[in-house]
Amino acid sequence: MKRIGFIGLGIMGSPMAKNLLKAGYPLTVCDIVPAKAKVLVDAGATAAPTAREAAAPSDVVITMLPNSPDVEQAVLGADGVLEGARPGTILVDMSSIAPLASRMIAERAGRQGVVMLDAPVSGGEPKAIEGKLAIMVGGPAPAFEEVRPILAVLGAAVTHVGEIGSGNIAKLANQIIVALNIAAMSEAMVLATKAGVNPEKVYQAIRGGLAGSAVLDAKMPLVLKGRFKPGFRIELHIKDLLNALDTAHAVGVPLPLSSAVAEILLALKVDGKGGDDHGGIIQFYERLAGTEVRQAGP
Ligand code: NAD
Repeated sequence: MKRIGFIGLGIMGSPMAKNLLKAGYPLTVCDIVPAKAKVLVDAGATAAPTAREAAAPSDVVITMLPNSPDVEQAVLGADGVLEGARPGTILVDMSSIAPLASRMIAERAGRQGVVMLDAPVSGGEPKAIEGKLAIMVGGPAPAFEEVRPILAVLGAAVTHVGEIGSGNIAKLANQIIVALNIAAMSEAMVLATKAGVNPEKVYQAIRGGLAGSAVLDAKMPLVLKGRFKPGFRIELHIKDLLNALDTAHAVGVPLPLSSAVAEILLALKVDGKGGDDHGGIIQFYERLAGTEVRQAGP
């Protein structure tokens, strides 16, 4: 079995690494917060203090980090992946980062004989725990085929989208759709509630119709309970929408709705809610209307 180095043991990386261990892969793990490795070491992984040392014994290196500068640091920086990786190693960056950054890092890795795939995911923490993420992959087809069995442990739907950077372009599309969906849900539910209708009943009434969606079913039950613990942090969604706007502007595509929702998310961050789950977008609308969308009773 391929030996895997796993770098970035946060909300997503930790359960993903755990699933690879359960599937029998020998795993070396690393996080800049070393305590995050403990639960995986207890489950059988080896901890490495640096990305270089996680890469050295590995055939495949997976990174699951917040944003482009973090991946650049972990891969290209001092004590990074490229200082430890042997030629022939496959680097699978599963973080959601700017597509242009993926292309730049892949080019630098390629000079050392390391092939890179960008393979961001959708589905959040619950699907990471279940091993049922949607994984969208960019990069050379032979490398994709080589790591496909590993990705199949982590995801229920694994799609090769195209050349390097395509995975992250698909992910930006995903993030636009998710953010705008949550904003639309929030706008609608604040209206229904302030107009005097029970939001739980409205949710039940519409979820089987055309307005029903995976987003509505994932977020509305949490909103009704006022639970905004992440999940997917508002500040990470700001990162994705800003990456979408930069990419769109570079290719000449206006994104009027995405820029409006990006400003809503920035306002929430200024209000101290950047660490809330993105379902907490509704709090912006609640403040505007002076109404809370919560279920009746305890
Ligand atoms: P997180 O902040 O919980 O985890 C990131 C981890 O990376 C942290 O443990 C941090 O200490 C570590 N880290 C940062 N820089 C490092 C470095 N240079 N070397 C080693 N470790 C480093 O974030 P997350 O929610 O797990 O998200 C990770 C990526 O997955 C992001 O790009 C995010 O947009 C994407 N994503 C998240 C979700 C979600 O629901 N949380 C869903 C889909 C995609």
